[in-house]
Amino acid sequence: MDIALYVSGESAIAGRADVLKLSSNENPYGCSDKARAAYLAAAADLHRYPNTDHGALRRAIGEIHGLDPDRIVCGVGSDEVLQFIAQAYAGTGDEIITTEHGFSMYPILAHAVGATPVTVGERERCIDVDAILAAVTDKTRIVFLANPANPTGTMVSEADLDRLAAGLKGRALLVHDGAYAEFVDGFDGGAGLVEAHDNVIMTRTFSKIHGLGGLRIGWGYARREVIDVLNRLRQPFNLSQGQMAAAEAAIRDVEFTTRCREENARWRSWLTDALRQMGVGCDESHANFVLARFADAEEAGAADAALKADGIIVRRVTGYGLPEGLRITVGDEAACRRIIAVLAAFKGVR
Ligand SMILES: *Cc1c(COP(=O)(O)O)cnc(C)c1O
Repeated sequence: MDIALYVSGESAIAGRADVLKLSSNENPYGCSDKARAAYLAAAADLHRYPNTDHGALRRAIGEIHGLDPDRIVCGVGSDEVLQFIAQAYAGTGDEIITTEHGFSMYPILAHAVGATPVTVGERERCIDVDAILAAVTDKTRIVFLANPANPTGTMVSEADLDRLAAGLKGRALLVHDGAYAEFVDGFDGGAGLVEAHDNVIMTRTFSKIHGLGGLRIGWGYARREVIDVLNRLRQPFNLSQGQMAAAEAAIRDVEFTTRCREENARWRSWLTDALRQMGVGCDESHANFVLARFADAEEAGAADAALKADGIIVRRVTGYGLPEGLRITVGDEAACRRIIAVLAAFKGVR
C-alpha cells in the first residue's frame, strides 16, 4: 500500500464531445496505416498461440536501428521491460535511484520489488549526473533515467551519460529509457552507450512516435547476458501476434516515422515560441511535449481550468515536483493553434 497508484493522463471532460486530449504524449497523426493493416490481418489467426521468441519483430528492430536482434527483448510496453529489469536486479534492502522530476513509474517499480527508491535532485529541470554519482551507495543496484526526460523534455549530454555509466561500472546498472528518442534527429536512443559500457540497458517503446500506445509494445537492448536474464522473467506469450505484426509494420514504415518527427519538431518549436512570447516559461524540449511553466501553482491551475472550459486536456505535473507546470503534448497544427489561442486569451495577450 506504500505504492502511489500511477495516474494516467485524463481523457474526458463531462458533457463535451469535442475534447482535445494533449495529456498523454500520444501521436496526433495516429499510427502507420501499414501497422493498422497488419493488426487487422492478424485477426485471421486469433485461435493460434503467438510465437514465443518475437523473432520477426526483433529482426525488424535490428534492421531499422542497426542492432543485434539477439540482444533485444520485447515487452508489453517498455513498462514491462523496465519491470523485468527491476525484478531481475533489485530486491529487498536494495536502492534504486531516480531523479527529482523523473518518470513516476520508476519509484513504483522499485517499491514493487521491495527496493527503496532514492530520489536525486536535478539542476534547473536537467538531470545532474554528479548528484546521481554522489548518491550511489553499496546498496544501489539500478539508476533509472529517461532521455529525453518526461515531463521536462530536457536531455543529458553524451559526455555526461558516458561519465555516469563509467562511474556506475561494477556498482549499478544504468537504465537509459529512450521512450522519446525518435523525436531527436539523429539520436541513437542510447545504443552507443550500451555498446560502450557493459552496465547499460536501453529501453524503447512503440507508444510514442509509432502511435501504438493502445497496443502496448516496447523493447530493451543490452548485452547478451542481461537479455538472457530478462527473457527468463518474461512470460513466453507476453506479446500477441497482433501486437508483434503491428509493431513490425510500424517500425518498417520509416516514411511515417520521419514525417511524424518533422511535424513534431516544427510544431514543438512553434509552441515553445508562442508560450515564451506570452511570458510563460518553456525550456527547449527534445520530446513530443512541452512543459509550460506558469508563475506558480495557482496560475497553472487557473490556466488548466481555462483549457478544460474550452475542451482541452493537458497534464498537471504537481506529482512530478512541478506544481507550476502544465505538460502539453505537441498536437497537429490545428491543436497547437487552438491551445495557444486559449492560453493567449487566458494571459490577456493576442
Ligand atoms: C511514455 C513513456 C514510456 C512508455 O511506456 P510504454 O509502457 O512503452 O507505453 C516509458 N518511459 C517514459 C519516460 C515515458 O514517458
